[in-house]
Amino acid sequence: MTQKRKPSKKKPAAKRPQRKKTAKQKIQPVEEILFRVEGKMSTFGGPRDTGMSADEGLALFTPADLQDPKYSYLFLPTPPPGTTGLGRRLNPDKYYFACRWNYNDTPREFLKRALARVENPANGRTADARPADWGPNISTGRAADLSPGLAAALGLQTDDVVRITISALRAIPVKPVKSAKQAAPVSRTAPPGKPVIKQFIRSPNCSSRNVGTKIDKIVLHCTEGSLASALAEFQTSDSRKVSAHYVIDRNGDIYQMVNDADCANHCMGANTGSIGIEHVGSETDALAAPQAAASAALIRWLLQEHQIPRTNIFGHDFTPGYSRPGGTSCPDKLFGPTHSQATIAAWIAANV
Ligand SMILES: [Zn+2]
Repeated sequence: MTQKRKPSKKKPAAKRPQRKKTAKQKIQPVEEILFRVEGKMSTFGGPRDTGMSADEGLALFTPADLQDPKYSYLFLPTPPPGTTGLGRRLNPDKYYFACRWNYNDTPREFLKRALARVENPANGRTADARPADWGPNISTGRAADLSPGLAAALGLQTDDVVRITISALRAIPVKPVKSAKQAAPVSRTAPPGKPVIKQFIRSPNCSSRNVGTKIDKIVLHCTEGSLASALAEFQTSDSRKVSAHYVIDRNGDIYQMVNDADCANHCMGANTGSIGIEHVGSETDALAAPQAAASAALIRWLLQEHQIPRTNIFGHDFTPGYSRPGGTSCPDKLFGPTHSQATIAAWIAANV
């Protein structure tokens, strides 16, 4: 994705005339998303959360933070009787939450300063909240734990779906600190996390994964058609009802259409535990360079995010569980001229 865009071989440059001239800074301000998750939620923290032990702490805060007015408001003035940990001392009326952070992508110090947008997709209500802890355990099948007050404000009940976004714009400015550990600018130092999603275009052709279903594979596809036709087909529910989690254009733009937490309809028989990535191309195209870079970045992030083994990245036709093996030419010649899983594996080994 760092490469300069250039017209793809197959399409005349006239196709997107202004694009080339458009310097990065002039592209419509796209929010730089540093973290986003959508999935089921529950609540945690505070004196009445007996799911937390009396001495249980929080991943992002230490007792020293109680002295800092930036953070102290999240806590009760005194520890609830019989407790020593910060978890039960959280003020359940304040807006805080926990997600399963990857501290390489979103370091602790960043999270402590971040303000997230928490949203109830069902009613559109949003609120700002602070990251406070790591969780919930992956075995719960949930994506986030919210403070009881936050959940109530958004009209969320346990196992409802919540969407949480942290963008670079929303990091709380840090006052100069004289300590040895200098706080570096967030957006530049955070290691690459989830690649920027150009647009989230929701596809109706998806379903909930069963609670506890592990995402354990990535399936690579070729659209065998234009970006527009793929986006259109995935948005219509009156034909084949197909979809994919991601669609990567030849210029490297990534569109998301289904949340990772949900099941897309991209590989019959193997949708339950998989993430589907479509790549725009014809039956004879190889990946365009920016597209390959975007795909590799997305795959790297997915592997880490969902702890998917590197050996579980498949071409559509070669996916274990696919109900018609040998029944499709997908992903065609995108990853190499030979229609085989070995071609896919070689590309992964060389690029991801
Ligand atoms: Zn396919």
